[in-house]
Amino acid sequence: MKKSTKHDKTRQAKVKELCDYCCETLSPKITNLEFRVKGELIVIEDVPAEVCNRCGKKYLSAETDAGIERLLRNKPKVEKTITVPVFRWAAARSNARKKETMRNLTRITFDPNVMGGKPCIRGMRVTVGTIVGLIASGHSITDILQAYPYLEDEDIREALAYAAWRVEEIELPLAHA
Ligand SMILES: [Zn+2]
Repeated sequence: MKKSTKHDKTRQAKVKELCDYCCETLSPKITNLEFRVKGELIVIEDVPAEVCNRCGKKYLSAETDAGIERLLRNKPKVEKTITVPVFRWAAARSNARKKETMRNLTRITFDPNVMGGKPCIRGMRVTVGTIVGLIASGHSITDILQAYPYLEDEDIREALAYAAWRVEEIELPLAHA
């Protein structure tokens, strides 16, 4: 268990006096602990703890803490399994979408040693910016493929998709306006 180490000295005492966060008094209670062990959410029921009367923060005695560590080390038998609903914060979802987009754009590469780390096509010295610039100045995809024979149709498509995605997802600085 993670525990505040700020008041380690008071940990020596049998019972903690006040909550670290709100300085409220604590009451001894039998409580449940929920925490993650190697990515797995686990619950330990009926654990004695000192519980803050205001914020509900739980404080375990050094003894109980050690007992829990021992329990987990010994891989105890699972008493019961419960189903836990999991929600995702909207911002996290948009991050997941970003990752998803980058997974699909396999031809866009970043290498600090190539073109200063700018997004490039398949590790080559052609940046996404170059391609977008060419399109913007009226060149057709056919023109570009002629000028850069080592590029493929799909490279252009991914460069444009990447640029579109960046404009959607990231606020651009307006300094050069
Ligand atoms: Zn508290």
